[in-house]
Amino acid sequence: MGSSSLFSSLARRLEGKVALITGGASGIGECTAKLFTQHGAKVMIADIQDELGHSVCKDIGPESPSYIHCDVTDENQIQKAIATTVANYGKLDIMFNNAGIIDKPKPRILDNDQSDFEQVLKVNVTGTFLGIKHAARVMIPARQGSIISTCSISSITAGLASHAYTSSKHAILGLTKNTAVELGKFGIRVNCISPYGVVTPMCRKYGTVEDEVLREHLHSVANLKGLILEAEDIAKAALYLSTDDSRYLSGHNLVVDGGFSIVNPSFAMFKYPDS
Ligand code: NAD
Repeated sequence: MGSSSLFSSLARRLEGKVALITGGASGIGECTAKLFTQHGAKVMIADIQDELGHSVCKDIGPESPSYIHCDVTDENQIQKAIATTVANYGKLDIMFNNAGIIDKPKPRILDNDQSDFEQVLKVNVTGTFLGIKHAARVMIPARQGSIISTCSISSITAGLASHAYTSSKHAILGLTKNTAVELGKFGIRVNCISPYGVVTPMCRKYGTVEDEVLREHLHSVANLKGLILEAEDIAKAALYLSTDDSRYLSGHNLVVDGGFSIVNPSFAMFKYPDS
């Protein structure tokens, strides 16, 4: 390989690949759609925010992704989104189950409604289940594929979000591991990404604080100081899980939290006078 082709293959890591991104009209999904497109992938965004989804595609530019309306809780719509991706681009290499919702935490379980609980599980867990199921349907005959789901540090850490959200993210981790076991024999990798807090439109639904205030708060309680986690950091993790750089990773929870979830604040061992 000549130096220029080596450079372009490093620069465009997803040339010839096809990706479907749920929840791609906003936040982490939008950022991932941009990054994957820059890396040469053909991208289909699936979301319920149609106007926003179309304008995100337009803004991405000449090699812009396509958009399809898809409520991830509806099996027919997921099936259609995957079938349309395959019809338009010939295959599906990467399925990014990223759509998700959060509810306001009500710390007392007695205040939690069944309907709110079930709605969070429906989008986050059933939506991911359906995405994995129908991606597997087209990836099994191809004997390859990378399925990635957006999980959360709430998959491994308790007390940060609502009972529903925490349960849903634990479930996505379980589903990732179980399906990685089943699909490994077909050469299909199944992984998830667990971000620490990232300021996205989702956070505006979670609370009423300004983005900057939330950013400062997330930084103040973070383990890793001096930088702030951005949606692009999660998009880069998804890029890694989509390429052959991660070809032997499956059933893995890629925790992108700067060490937050491994800290037990009860142990203040490393406190120096000047820190
Ligand atoms: P976001 O609200 O900006 O994006 C979520 C997208 O999912 C939106 O475009 C929304 O329209 C879409 N969506 C919601 N319900 C849907 C449905 N039924 N069908 C299809 N699309 C639907 O939020 P985000 O922060 O980018 O969240 C993306 C993922 O990241 C979620 O799974 C979330 O739980 C996870 N996550 C976010 C954070 C954070 O701090 N922002 C941290 C950890 C994990």
